[in-house]
Amino acid sequence: AKPRVAFLGLGHMGGPMAVNLVKAGYDVVGFDVVPAALEAARGHGIPVAASAAETIPGADVVLTMFPSGQHVLDAYRGGDGQPGLLEAAAPNTMFLDCSTINVDEAREAARLALDAGHRSVDAPVSGGVVGAEAGTLTFMVGALQEDFETVRPLFDVMGKRAVLCGEHGAGQAAKVCNNLILGVSMIAVSEAFVLGEKLGLTHQALFDVASAASGQCWALTTNCPVPGPVPTSPANRDYQPGFAGALMAKDLRLALNALQSTGVAARMGPLASDIYDAFAAEGGAGRDFSGIITDIRDKSGQ
Ligand code: NAD
Repeated sequence: AKPRVAFLGLGHMGGPMAVNLVKAGYDVVGFDVVPAALEAARGHGIPVAASAAETIPGADVVLTMFPSGQHVLDAYRGGDGQPGLLEAAAPNTMFLDCSTINVDEAREAARLALDAGHRSVDAPVSGGVVGAEAGTLTFMVGALQEDFETVRPLFDVMGKRAVLCGEHGAGQAAKVCNNLILGVSMIAVSEAFVLGEKLGLTHQALFDVASAASGQCWALTTNCPVPGPVPTSPANRDYQPGFAGALMAKDLRLALNALQSTGVAARMGPLASDIYDAFAAEGGAGRDFSGIITDIRDKSGQ
């Protein structure tokens, strides 16, 4: 029989992920603290409960898709008169967190779950709302092998790829490292295009050279920050996301926290975090992160 899933956090990502589980025949009970999100979920055919606690009885898997690690830890522990999910769940329940959170928080969440006699998997995703709706997310997973096998069918429904990266926290670690590469590389590509403009180089010429040379990267060849060379990139639709600046700023803050807590002698990561924080604060929060190029150009004078 398919496991019963308590699905907590029915926002931009969680809503469509839960819909895909329901469509695949899973017994899902959802909850969100925001009434509007709960109503929208109900409207999309997701059975919902009146409280988080009511989703727990009979649940084999407790799946969370929350904004931050603090939300996850608070929900696991309970407080303010709310029972903790860990305490409410039957022994050996699978706690599957798909939120993007700090590596340290993911390890703490896993420790709390294991100490309470449960199982724990961290599985942040990439692919955005479009991937959540289409069921084409990629899951980066930190888990024991046997727990990974247990939840793999859920990943197959909600995504197209799941990579077991190591034990608890390794999923978050993989995600934060990947997004550090992405954030820094997009800034480098954008600076190069603005420099090319100053030097009288056409966008197409730089693209034709770099895309087939050592400058090649996803930021250039898929999410190209200037319109033209890659017709599907957000630059061609006035930087509608795509991957919003606010989310890149968030993910780089997680990278910064991990760099600091591990003592890595990083310079580009912290700088990229500052750059996207400013971008998000100055109107870029809802634009694609490749819109960073317009900031660089605007600050470059005539
Ligand atoms: P969101 O804010 O739309 O959804 C999160 C939901 O969790 C909200 O509806 C909120 O009310 C709910 N929530 C918070 N605490 C709760 C609790 N205790 N019980 C029940 N519900 C609770 O955010 P999102 O865009 O869906 O993102 C979710 C996570 O996925 C984040 O960690 C984000 O970084 C990550 N992520 C997002 C994207 C994206 O494109 N949006 C892509 C990859 C990863």
